[in-house]
Amino acid sequence: MIELESYKDIVGEDVISYLHQLANLLKGKRVVHVNSTKTGGGVAEILNRLVPLMQQLGIDAHWAVIKGSDDFFKCTKGMHNALQGNHVHIPKSLFEKYEETNAENAELFKDELNDADIVFIHDPQPASLIKFFPNRKGKWIWRCHIDISRPLRSTWKYLRQYIVNYDASVFSMVDFAQTLPHPLYIIPPSIDPLSDKNKDLDERYVLETYKGFGVDIESPIVLQVSRFDRFKDPVGVIYAYKLLKKSIGNLQLVLAGGMADDDPEGKVVYDEVKSMVEDDSSVHLLLLPPDANIIVNALQRGADIVLQKSIKEGFGLTVTEAMWKAKPVIGGNVGGIKMQITNHYTGFLVDTPEGTALRTRYLLYHKDEREKMGAKAKEFVRRNFLITRHLRDYLTLMISLIYSATNRIEL
Ligand code: UDP
Repeated sequence: MIELESYKDIVGEDVISYLHQLANLLKGKRVVHVNSTKTGGGVAEILNRLVPLMQQLGIDAHWAVIKGSDDFFKCTKGMHNALQGNHVHIPKSLFEKYEETNAENAELFKDELNDADIVFIHDPQPASLIKFFPNRKGKWIWRCHIDISRPLRSTWKYLRQYIVNYDASVFSMVDFAQTLPHPLYIIPPSIDPLSDKNKDLDERYVLETYKGFGVDIESPIVLQVSRFDRFKDPVGVIYAYKLLKKSIGNLQLVLAGGMADDDPEGKVVYDEVKSMVEDDSSVHLLLLPPDANIIVNALQRGADIVLQKSIKEGFGLTVTEAMWKAKPVIGGNVGGIKMQITNHYTGFLVDTPEGTALRTRYLLYHKDEREKMGAKAKEFVRRNFLITRHLRDYLTLMISLIYSATNRIEL
């Protein structure tokens, strides 16, 4: 277990003592987080760390995972896509499955949720649980992790009938939110600086990792880590690389990404990328298993340039992960990336492959500037996107809801 006190060296003692100070107002309060998966995805990754840290602060924190059949997840996957703006038709029978599954889970977690002081419901999957708790004792918060600013209206209308009953909603960015008849809070995601994905690594390990993949560590390395997904624009990255390769002969490109067995689209994109690369031995396509956290860490640390040339993105965790490793990321000028990178200061925002090539060339030829921007990028993440800030925001939110009837809160 990673102790809260271990974060002192990274964020400073005052940040940790402030967390203790806030948590004093929440000692013994029963807080339950509800989502639909224990592993995989950013939500599980964050809860895995946040819940134990809340417990260390004296909060009676729990994590409940709802159970559902394939049809339930088919429905919620459809909702997920529709809420993000895709035209998805969800049959009535699947909506019935959604209701039914949440009714069963309400029964399963009846006592735990009825008596909790605070309930965090993460994303749409468990959102209708609230309907089964008319006598709930505590405050219920809907924590939305996706961008629902331009949803398919019918799907949002359906979900909204449940969301309006919550005491508050939380979104990751202002731009991702919907208007609701209760307080909205903006809390961006975070990374854990002590996890395998982000902890400090020995320089030798970093170099050996690259060598193990046949990458020449003496020549410049451009890296993008992401699923083989069109929204991550691997094709645009290769186009930018090809533009650069004409003048920087020893340039290497590493595209590292996983591919789920159940994602046929991933295979198509991977094949497309592979055919673009042909037999160019300076391009390395790495297919990594989902738990290759230390490898991703090493790749991000050892790269000269890190790209995240997405054409659509929520909060791009890979951007923040690389910035924490003092890399000035060149990222697509879209979604959450616009908030994560301060253009020309901690990295560059780009709209085209040509722009990507231009900024990559600039950073490759200006090592001093690269290091200066990288240092500022790391500092920006330290102040804004580490798990301790996330914890502070959640504690503040809980205090504001629990003590909302009091007109004085003494910290
Ligand atoms: N990731 C990984 N291996 C891969 C590709 C991605 O571990 O092969 C991780 C990456 O480091 C990040 C997360 O998966 O922590 C992806 O989050 P992000 O928000 O960047 O994109 P998403 O895949 O959620 O759209």
